[in-house]
Amino acid sequence: MLVRLVYTSRASEALTPSTFEGILASSRKNNPPAGITGVLCTNGVVFLQMLEGGRKEVNDTYNRITKDPRHYDVQVIHFEEITERKFATWSMGKVSFDRINMAILLKHSAKAVLDPYSVSGNVSVALLEDLMATASVAS
Ligand code: FAD
Repeated sequence: MLVRLVYTSRASEALTPSTFEGILASSRKNNPPAGITGVLCTNGVVFLQMLEGGRKEVNDTYNRITKDPRHYDVQVIHFEEITERKFATWSMGKVSFDRINMAILLKHSAKAVLDPYSVSGNVSVALLEDLMATASVAS
């Protein structure tokens, strides 16, 4: 059974490129053997991540991520059973702040700020889909 889980969290310290790359390196090492795909978006202050895969694998990965000291205030904002993945080709695609088109943020929220805490989970899923559609997701 495939599921999609989306969560948001706050970076414990101002996110450096090397910390972000370290997180992505762990993701790219661990996610393929677990059949996990998805995308990780950040503006350096908050994270927005979508995990797709088997229900057990997504839960195991999410539970591991929540214990990571590099972020806090981890909140699930969307969870659903799915029949197909949106991000099948990414072991963990990345979207960093400098690649976010402000117009895409404004399309989905009152201000051009990435703040998944203040919008519905469905809005954050739509934002991630738009980022994918506009080639803002890098491998
Ligand atoms: P390794 O990847 O080998 O890392 C070794 C250990 O060092 C781990 O315990 C790790 O937590 C720790 N570590 C490394 N760098 C730092 C640092 N700068 N500060 C503190 N501790 C550090 N993991 C996934 O597998 N898939 C994901 O999709 C994923 N997404 C993540 C998203 C976010 C926002 C964050 C913060 C972390 C994410 N992680 C992800 C990392 C996850 O939390 C675990 O650190 C990782 O899965 C542990 O993998 P590992 O046991 O193979 O250890």
